[in-house]
Amino acid sequence: MKKLIIEARVNEYAPRTRNKHVPWSVSEIAQNAAACRSAGASVVHFHSRKTDGSPEHSYESYRDTVKAIRAATDILIHPTLGYVTLNAPAAERLSHIRRMVEDDGVPPDIAPMDMGSTNVSVIDERGHYVPDQEERVYQNSTATLHYFADHIRKYKLKPYLQIWNISFMREMEQFFKMGWLDAPVFAEFVCTDNHCIGGHPGTAKGLQALIDFLPEQVPVEWTVCNYGGNLLPLAAQAISQGGHISIGLGDYHYNELGEPTNAELIARVVQIAREYGREVATPQEAKQILGIH
Ligand code: ZN
Repeated sequence: MKKLIIEARVNEYAPRTRNKHVPWSVSEIAQNAAACRSAGASVVHFHSRKTDGSPEHSYESYRDTVKAIRAATDILIHPTLGYVTLNAPAAERLSHIRRMVEDDGVPPDIAPMDMGSTNVSVIDERGHYVPDQEERVYQNSTATLHYFADHIRKYKLKPYLQIWNISFMREMEQFFKMGWLDAPVFAEFVCTDNHCIGGHPGTAKGLQALIDFLPEQVPVEWTVCNYGGNLLPLAAQAISQGGHISIGLGDYHYNELGEPTNAELIARVVQIAREYGREVATPQEAKQILGIH
């Protein structure tokens, strides 16, 4: 049976109010990456953060984090482009990736592309829109995505296509038909359970709709996250249907389990995977599955 790729989504822009283990600093992110690797993760996804937890967009912070992770572990590295917090032209959104590759020779392995645009107004714990967030739109035009596809390929990294809903899946299929993506396509289904309603709900139906809409003509290795909610109830559904798992404190505090660390969440997924007969992939095995050379 195909081995399972587990991606640790260690921090996103999560606060520490509900879980103090969310890593913010360079060294905390690198320590989390190593601990998650030991627990069974083969990919780490991170967002650079300032000391107060706010988004950090400096090139140096990304470069230093990639270096620190490389020094600590062989896990595959997947930095963000800044999500909706960096509303900038395509070249600027990708500039830290370009500079790591071209200026410093410390490339990551994977770079993300969210395959469409959607409202990402944040919803608070009472289920209300946060007032000053009602203008938030996560914009990714086809031109921007075409630029990302061409340049991520040029930098010899693996593009990671985030699929928030079925129209994003159609854009992915179109890009593949245009010859802008290489097989297998690596796609992440982004369920958004509580945080915002831009993606599918983090329910069995929400996930299954995405799985059922996978295009037959496109070889896809897919993974799933639940931005804002508990992914564990969906883990068996994904694992048993050949999917991979992307989980971490960046998405959700997991207070159902107390105050777990990222590595403890990875260990949970490993346990569930074994119940379904799937062993976890090492970074080297993940590279083979994803066609990373
Ligand atoms: Zn992210």
